[in-house]
Amino acid sequence: MLIYLDPGHGGSDPGASANGMLEKDITLKLAKKIRENLVEKYEVNVALTREDDKDVSLKDRVEMANKAEANFFLSLHVNAGGGEGYEDYIYSGLSALSKTAALREILHSVLANFYTGYRCVDRGMKKAGYYVLKETIMSAVLCENLFIDNAYDTKLLKDEVFIENLARAYTEAIAMTLNLDKKVKLLYAVQVGAYSSIVYASRMANELKSKGYDAIIKEIPAQ
Ligand SMILES: [Zn+2]
Repeated sequence: MLIYLDPGHGGSDPGASANGMLEKDITLKLAKKIRENLVEKYEVNVALTREDDKDVSLKDRVEMANKAEANFFLSLHVNAGGGEGYEDYIYSGLSALSKTAALREILHSVLANFYTGYRCVDRGMKKAGYYVLKETIMSAVLCENLFIDNAYDTKLLKDEVFIENLARAYTEAIAMTLNLDKKVKLLYAVQVGAYSSIVYASRMANELKSKGYDAIIKEIPAQ
């Protein structure tokens, strides 16, 4: 099983920028953390379309994944333009009955659940004609992670702990979507309980924080 993670933009193309942040930096950081989590926890190979801050054309990104015969392509982006929240895309030419549509539904449900736990908006499952979705020969999904020009969203994107938890949510979402085998069984523990899902751990931690408790999430082995 080979997954290609595609950190959007890079090099001379910063992507969206606002509030002192660049989309290209967020997508790369997130992709690296997701890879780290995935290979640590699951029987899977993960490649990135770029490892650092450099220009990679959309054509090159697609060719890399196609040549390697990757099983899944996930493009990571951050939105801009006055909205708020999370949304994801599959190629507009795909039917609702396609394998990619079914996989995206699983991916979306985990991520939307995670985001709404942070009181972020779920903008839904969408379709578009984006190049990386159209030209990849494997199932491909493009995720728009919050809005860089929205005050609430930016506060989260600047928070290292949030990015860590988001990477964990992606790891779980990808593992569920592709039915990956676990290397090590892990639970996500908060001070008042242990959950098999980062989604519920984050919800509880947020609830505790809203009540003034300094809650942290820690991974512990499951019995
Ligand atoms: Zn982008």
